[in-house]
Amino acid sequence: MGVCDLVICSDGSKYKTIRFDKKLAKRKHYWEKRLARRRNQALKDIQYKKKFGLIDPKPLEQYSNYMKAKLMVAKYSEKIANQRKDYLHKITRKLVEDNDLIVIEDLKTKNLLGNHKLSRAIANQSWRVLRLMLEYKCEWYGKKLLIVNPFKTSQICSNCGYDDGKHELDIREWDCPSCGIHHDRDINASKNILNKGLEQALVK
Ligand SMILES: [Zn+2]
Repeated sequence: MGVCDLVICSDGSKYKTIRFDKKLAKRKHYWEKRLARRRNQALKDIQYKKKFGLIDPKPLEQYSNYMKAKLMVAKYSEKIANQRKDYLHKITRKLVEDNDLIVIEDLKTKNLLGNHKLSRAIANQSWRVLRLMLEYKCEWYGKKLLIVNPFKTSQICSNCGYDDGKHELDIREWDCPSCGIHHDRDINASKNILNKGLEQALVK
């Protein structure tokens, strides 16, 4: 699991964290701004009417401009959520169909410092959904899902097992000082995660 690439597989394939909802997010933001403004206007109006003795000012829910903005925000929120969900369904379906054993890292300990807050929040949310989808789809298809501790998986060479020490997050590629092989940080980590899972499966 990653932030820029949402899923990185041990066979080298990567699935991007797509912000394909950018256009929709813009529309949503447009309506959110309007919603806030219209809400304030309506509240002011209600206050004004109360102050001047109108016994029964109409409730907020009867301000049609406000309600329209509210509906638009809800509409765009739903569209964005649906697009994201569709994408995650596609990824997980492919993963489960193509593999008999899927090993993923336990993300509780994942170190994501240094990443942009928003992309981290999106990735976080997507990982949770991804894991859930993998869990039930593996069950449906009779496939095995293992979750392993990612400890040291981004520093050990998946080729020879040499422990090269901690790599800072900005080091995306490195050469193993022992066997000399060139590594993509994320793909190497995913190979290590697979190896951990295979070990676990054998011990059981
Ligand atoms: Zn090596």
